[in-house]
Amino acid sequence: MIQRMQDIWWKTLRELDALKRYLVLCPQTYDYKFDNSVRKLIRRALFHAVSDGGQYLAHFFPGEQYENGFETSGNVSGEAFEYGSSPKYDSGSESDDWVLTPQARAAHPRRPCARVFLKGEPIYRCLTCGLDETCAMCADCYDADAHKDHVVYINICMRSNNGGTCDCGDPEAWVGDVKCKHYTKEQKSDKDIPVPLQASLLGTLEVVLDYVIDVMNGTDICYLSEKHQTPAAFIDHSNSCDLDPAYYELVPDPNSEQYYLMLYNDYVRHYRDAVQRIHMATRKVPEFAEMVAKEIEKYGKAKVWSGTVKELLEKQLSLGATGLHSLIRSHRDVFREDMCDEIIRWIKSITESAFFQDYQLPRDVLCRAFCSKWGHGENRIPDDYPYQTGRMNNGLIPIIPRVRSHHNPDYWNIEAKRWELPEDICLECSYNLEAGRENDFQGEPFVGSRFQYLLYFDIRFWSSVRATLHSIYVTSLISNLRYKNTISCQYVDIYPSIADMFLRVDREPETSFMCDLSTQLFTTPTDATAIVKHGDLTRILSTIYGFLTMDCIVPPEGVDLSKQVLLSSLNNRKWGQVFFDLGYIINRNEETRLLFTGNFVRQACDVIALFQSRPIVVRAAKEHVEFESNDYTLYFSALSVICRFSEAIAKSASKLPHADFFLVESTLTTLVDLLSSIDKGEYRGIVPGTLDVAPSLVKQWSGLGINAIVSEYPVHLQNVSFLHPLHSFFSWLIELCSQKTPQNLLALANQQYVGMYPLLPYDYSLRSIVLLAQIKVGFWVRNGFSIKNQLHIYRHTSVRECGFMRDVFLCQSLTSSYPPDDVCLLFFYRWSLMPWVSGQVQNYSVYDKANLPGIVEECLNFFVWLLTENMHLKGLSEDYLTRTVIRKEIIHSLCFQSLSFSKIVSEVPEHVANLKKFEAVLKDLALYTPPSGLNDAGIYKLKEKYFDEVDPYYIHLTSNKRDDAIKLVKERIHKRTRKPLNDIYIEPRVSESNIPAFAGAGNFTTSILFAKFLHSTLNYTLQGDATNNESIIDLVLHVIHACAYEKSVTSTYRSFYNIMMDEHDGSSVASYMCHMLTIEGFKSYHSKIRGIFGVFVSKYQDVADILSQKFPALKKALEVDATATGAEPEAEHKRRTAKERRERVMAEFKKKQSQFAATNKVDTMDESDVEMVEADEAFAWKFPEEHCILCQMPSAEEEVFGIISHLSNAASFRKVPFNDEFWLTKAFTGSSDEDSHGELNEATRTYFDEVKAKSVFGPGFPSTSLDNVESRPVLSSCGHGMHFTCYKNYLVNIKSRQNQITRTVPENTEDREFLCPLCKAVNNVFVPVLWNVNNKSLSELLSRDADGKWHEPFDRIAVIEDESLVLEIQEKIKDEVIARAKHCVKSKYLKFFEAETSPVVEKCVIVIESVFHGLQKLNRPFLFDGDFSGLVVNTIESVEIALRGVSPEGGQIFDQLSHQVLTNLRVWNEFRNLNSAMLAMKEETDLPSFLDDVVANYQILASDEMIPCIEQGADLFESLVSCHIVETSGFSYPRTVRLCLMWHILQTAYSLTSQILQNMPLWSRILNLPLVSNLEANDLVCALYVFETMKNGLSPEIDVSNLTGSPQFGSVFYSMLVKCCVPYLRRCAIWAYVQCDNHSGIAVEECLSQENQLCSLLRIPPLTEIFSTFVTSGQYENQRLHSFASYLTRNNLNHINASKVEYPGIISLINLPERMDDFFTRYYYKDLNHENADPAVCLFCGAVVQIQGSSIGSRIGQCNLHVEKECISECGIFLVPRYCTLLLLWKGKGSFYKAPYLDPHGELDEEPRHGKPLYLNQKRYNAFVRNIWLNHGVQNAIARNLESVIDIGGWETL
Ligand SMILES: [Zn+2]
Ligand SMILES: [Zn+2]
Ligand SMILES: [Zn+2]
Ligand SMILES: [Zn+2]
Ligand SMILES: [Zn+2]
Ligand SMILES: [Zn+2]
Repeated sequence: MIQRMQDIWWKTLRELDALKRYLVLCPQTYDYKFDNSVRKLIRRALFHAVSDGGQYLAHFFPGEQYENGFETSGNVSGEAFEYGSSPKYDSGSESDDWVLTPQARAAHPRRPCARVFLKGEPIYRCLTCGLDETCAMCADCYDADAHKDHVVYINICMRSNNGGTCDCGDPEAWVGDVKCKHYTKEQKSDKDIPVPLQASLLGTLEVVLDYVIDVMNGTDICYLSEKHQTPAAFIDHSNSCDLDPAYYELVPDPNSEQYYLMLYNDYVRHYRDAVQRIHMATRKVPEFAEMVAKEIEKYGKAKVWSGTVKELLEKQLSLGATGLHSLIRSHRDVFREDMCDEIIRWIKSITESAFFQDYQLPRDVLCRAFCSKWGHGENRIPDDYPYQTGRMNNGLIPIIPRVRSHHNPDYWNIEAKRWELPEDICLECSYNLEAGRENDFQGEPFVGSRFQYLLYFDIRFWSSVRATLHSIYVTSLISNLRYKNTISCQYVDIYPSIADMFLRVDREPETSFMCDLSTQLFTTPTDATAIVKHGDLTRILSTIYGFLTMDCIVPPEGVDLSKQVLLSSLNNRKWGQVFFDLGYIINRNEETRLLFTGNFVRQACDVIALFQSRPIVVRAAKEHVEFESNDYTLYFSALSVICRFSEAIAKSASKLPHADFFLVESTLTTLVDLLSSIDKGEYRGIVPGTLDVAPSLVKQWSGLGINAIVSEYPVHLQNVSFLHPLHSFFSWLIELCSQKTPQNLLALANQQYVGMYPLLPYDYSLRSIVLLAQIKVGFWVRNGFSIKNQLHIYRHTSVRECGFMRDVFLCQSLTSSYPPDDVCLLFFYRWSLMPWVSGQVQNYSVYDKANLPGIVEECLNFFVWLLTENMHLKGLSEDYLTRTVIRKEIIHSLCFQSLSFSKIVSEVPEHVANLKKFEAVLKDLALYTPPSGLNDAGIYKLKEKYFDEVDPYYIHLTSNKRDDAIKLVKERIHKRTRKPLNDIYIEPRVSESNIPAFAGAGNFTTSILFAKFLHSTLNYTLQGDATNNESIIDLVLHVIHACAYEKSVTSTYRSFYNIMMDEHDGSSVASYMCHMLTIEGFKSYHSKIRGIFGVFVSKYQDVADILSQKFPALKKALEVDATATGAEPEAEHKRRTAKERRERVMAEFKKKQSQFAATNKVDTMDESDVEMVEADEAFAWKFPEEHCILCQMPSAEEEVFGIISHLSNAASFRKVPFNDEFWLTKAFTGSSDEDSHGELNEATRTYFDEVKAKSVFGPGFPSTSLDNVESRPVLSSCGHGMHFTCYKNYLVNIKSRQNQITRTVPENTEDREFLCPLCKAVNNVFVPVLWNVNNKSLSELLSRDADGKWHEPFDRIAVIEDESLVLEIQEKIKDEVIARAKHCVKSKYLKFFEAETSPVVEKCVIVIESVFHGLQKLNRPFLFDGDFSGLVVNTIESVEIALRGVSPEGGQIFDQLSHQVLTNLRVWNEFRNLNSAMLAMKEETDLPSFLDDVVANYQILASDEMIPCIEQGADLFESLVSCHIVETSGFSYPRTVRLCLMWHILQTAYSLTSQILQNMPLWSRILNLPLVSNLEANDLVCALYVFETMKNGLSPEIDVSNLTGSPQFGSVFYSMLVKCCVPYLRRCAIWAYVQCDNHSGIAVEECLSQENQLCSLLRIPPLTEIFSTFVTSGQYENQRLHSFASYLTRNNLNHINASKVEYPGIISLINLPERMDDFFTRYYYKDLNHENADPAVCLFCGAVVQIQGSSIGSRIGQCNLHVEKECISECGIFLVPRYCTLLLLWKGKGSFYKAPYLDPHGELDEEPRHGKPLYLNQKRYNAFVRNIWLNHGVQNAIARNLESVIDIGGWETL
């Protein structure tokens, strides 16, 4: 056995030696030319090695594919394989050879899923199950049932890299047992893997990884300094990169003579910019620059030049001047790097193979190869290099140099402990074997693991390799639970050097692995704990400290406390990452004690202190210079990062076990110690005087019986900063820990300030609040905008929670723990309101008259906050606090009106709206109404019960909002209680704290100073006019009201009641209020005052008696004034009228605004042309009036007026694709009603559901073949009119204008296109409008019905022989045609018919000729025969198609025609009539005349001569239209309709029969087709009879018993026939209406099926009756049927040349995915090679093409190519899922159009960056299909879009 093992190893080693040789020789072998065929050969060689010489290839490639790939010819040793040779496959272009097909990756048996989220995929986060908000699940793992009623947050991954991974199956990510069905599967046993395969797998991985490291080790050329960049240095360096012959089998490694200039990616420049620069520097053709730039973007680097070093150095200089990053590398070295790229791709591909997915062992082997040491570095000795970011030390990983700073306190020195990793893994990878080797902090440069080298070389790689490597790390390394800790340890060991590179030199930090690895590793509790134990927190802290202060990384002993933050470092946003990492570790660390027993907190404080008190508000009042440094934005944005870090520490402290709570106390002591040393000016990092730290001038104050000290610090004179992160930390410690410790932390903290002004720690917060107030009232005008901006950031952005709210909390802490007099003294000193308090308002020094009331108001506000804002005083859980914050914001924005989601978000501070719980809270609070129309959005309405939570004095409401809220609340109370509005007042929301430490938050209200303040304020308001001081009165009463409850006052002090009754100068607060009650001007406050007294009366019964002695009237006043009339007090009245006026002005403004929008916004027009103009309800329908949109003149006698129109091809004419199961079913499902589901039978519904489940989108209509789609010319028009002369001039103008501009113009002038000057619709013909009104009678047209002997006139004409009879008929026709044309023509054109002339008639003739000419030019393939029947027919048919699926809502089909469509149809129809009349009037010639044709038409139609025509697919509606109905000869409209209908039925029956016979496999599907509703027994008999007759005529030999034997078949065939008749009947009805508008007297039987209703309208018998005539022998129809059958037999027409059936169902584009992300998860990423592309789906055929994809040199994209070459369609309509938009294309031009998708809030996703899941809105999709596609609006939508954009500049504008 042992012998056997050794054999195996020897063999493997031999094999590996061969591989090494191959790797070294590769560049030479392939002549230094790297291409796809070389890639393939490398893969082949790697597979040879890894499968033990091809032995076990089947483990990677199951099946036969590569069985003899190596031609080992039975020789087990594998010597026959020559690495360098070509395999037996042709080494040509097939780069797909030797590529593993990636497996669908849902399965992850017994291990974490670790699927990387790709762009466009959904990420599911269950906030209920996840350990925190970072825990995520992929679409495969997420099971909605498992998370019922949980708070689930879905977002769409918007990043193309670093999107995170799925945590399913990770035991440390979830609170509960979250394992999906893919986890619980059993894994295959590793015993199945042969030992030799194990050996070769490990060996191969080790060899190739070592090779990659060796190659990359040589690439540190980028760190050569400038002066070394001589040709010789380059060549030397390149030669020194020869691979070590000792390791690589003593093979020589010759270098190449030639070099490349390589260009590299960076994330600074944009693509366009880069192209420009490359173009400039290279001076080559622009296509070259574009190609290089594309390569760089895709791959990360590109070759720009090849040549000698000397040549390249010059070129590099010119490239360097453009700022692009380039390097000169030898061909060999570049070749090797490309080999590395292929090797790493190969590793990734095998990790995705079934072999790795099914077994555990290969995954372990992979980790082992990565975690083991680099193969041959053991005997290297470190060089004497100085440390330089990113460089190696003789192949060893360097460590940060150990420089000791002079200002480094002892507590930064730490001892490292050895990592606690599993022994077996340490041995296996020879890592972490003893302390002091690789990872303690004293060590020397060391030999790292392969993983560490790869991390270290990360920035040397290019983006393509980086991305591949990171994906291997996260999916295969980190997700391996056995190795996870080891990997984490190896990462942390070199973290400082990695951070150094990331922060300082990485060109493309977005591709760095740091965010990914940190998030994955540091959020694992075991890893986080290990890191804390090992002592790495300190190393990470010193890393960031060094970077922020010195722009270099220092070890802990290098921390220099005398340094300040560098703005340049702060400007580099990347540093936040390090704090995120720290935050993760601290949050997830499980041994909390460790954080507080060592010196970590002290060190953290040093880091936090870097931001303390910075920057100060700069003022230059004296110099009268107005400036302010803009650094504040940098500091403000840093603050939230820093504070999140300190908050994390405080949270950890609160998790300490009870016994360890003394640690909190010592932490607090440490912190306060630091604060006091700062205040004393002893802390080195903060220099007193420059910041807001100043030696405090403590002064003694006495008066009013108080003797106290206070410190002088006038806010308006001294430095003040908003940022005090140390104090925020202090506040969090107190808040989070106070409730858990028996010690009063406040008292403890307060002891530290002995000998100084004891209130100092709280003073900073107070100063900030006072400064805010001063800014708000406009005290700091000089500083202008920037200071207002600081106010905004501090008060309303994320800084709010860690700045402003902390300040309020600290002030509450202050009031809770210090004597009221001391506190109030400080308050009023800081507010500079002492003179106010002492009643000396007149001689004020600080605030002028204008500012003073504002400051008093703000101060009152401040007291309201202190008394009512108690969120942080109650020890609420974090989750509850977050929810409360969100809840309050939502309630106070939704209470005024219901809003859409985006509106809510714009009202709420961004940081609140961004919280993941936001939507969940919103759902609880509000009712949601989804959008119902085509342009609205979903609306949220606050639930009734939450209105009770509206608090007008909510701390974050602006004063305007406060007024609105007061009104709102009062009105609601009024509604509920019916109390008069005057009697209603608002109760303050005060409650007690349940934490003893904060029980006295209201103590300050008992100070005499506070009483004096209230006293002065009331006095002030009583002096003035009540209406001028509304806010102050309102607030002061509210403060008194809140104080009256005395809820947060401890018994040590006097009560508020006492101080309220205290008299000063003969009056008291109470007496002032009594006084107010007697003043009419204060009437609106009386109820509030009564409310206040009410509170006192309930507590102090004698209060009323005491006061009544002085105010006899009081008792009466206190009783609710029951007799009060509803009269509005004057103040209220004034306020109301002012408000009303404001509202009026606003409404006026709004109106103007929307008017403006309506006239200036083209956007609203592209919705649908249909709704633009609706006919006014006039009696007779009018043709467009003569109003020229160009010259704006009304009619002109001499001018011919007309409308512009568009002749284009439409491909909406479809045939039933009988061989396509889906579309066949769809064609016969639901023909008319929007909601056809009613008639869907069970089988069809099941079938559609199955298809939907299987296909994410589509299936596409088979529209790539002409068989199924027909493109025909149709006419459309925007209906706008102009004079012919103006039209001509306009065309000339356009031409000359186009020569001047270069942008993309929407119209193709060479195709005669022009835009309507008014609505920008594309048009290309002018058609005259010579008519007034259409008042022809419809009932007259339909007067002669088609019953009984209806066919007699036709029989007569069919057999006509008498020439004179023909002439007679012709004459009749002529008369009728002319009469029809003259009917509604304008009088000025009547001469036209009398062969007379006039100027306008002459002009008219010219116009008509020009129309002919124009149409001919436009439509060459269309045989223009001088008759417009074809065009009118096509247009009516396309109009009918567009109307399918629109519910007629009780009316007739023609009632659905829009005015615009009707105008178009009627104008052209009359033009056709005119033309016919002209032809009829023409003198006879030799050719068959027009009249001959008409008669001949009738003769064919009336006889069996018609049979060959319909067999070949004649369109019977067209036959009908070409007939020129001749009433006088008995060919009435109904009769002709019936005749053509008969032929139509025969044609359909014939085609259906032959198609059915041809598609036998689909018979079962056909039998399940849905049926028409009102089937009668006789119908089936008729249908079967017709089928059998046709079938016997076609192919009597085919056995159809399977079909006809089914009882279902007759009904199905009948239903199919009927459905095919419906479009014909609808068209007949539309045409009748186009001719005649006057439809009075038309009565249609109600409540019939659509087809019968149409029959009734058209005066023909119901279909069932008509069908029965086919069966009844002797009937006209029956005879024709048999003639048809015998014609078929006679001509032996079997089913081979079957004609097609027109598609009778609703014509639609393909089904879209229900959710946009389905496209990616369920379709696009199933094939993993798609990762970075922009797919577009053709909505006709379902083909997927690349939107950006175009080959170099071809300007035409794949989409355009598809439209032009592959799909039969006149336009392109694509869905672009990445950007959630539609792409419209028309003749090579294109634009985007909003896709019919809405986010969960019923809103259009204008910015797909939001990453919300998007849901299909079928209604909007249907509207798009109808209004844009079927109504020929694509070109108009594009034109309007292009017109409104100045420069569309390519697709990049996305
Ligand atoms: Zn998953
Ligand atoms: Zn899973
Ligand atoms: Zn859950
Ligand atoms: Zn005009
Ligand atoms: Zn127009
Ligand atoms: Zn297509």
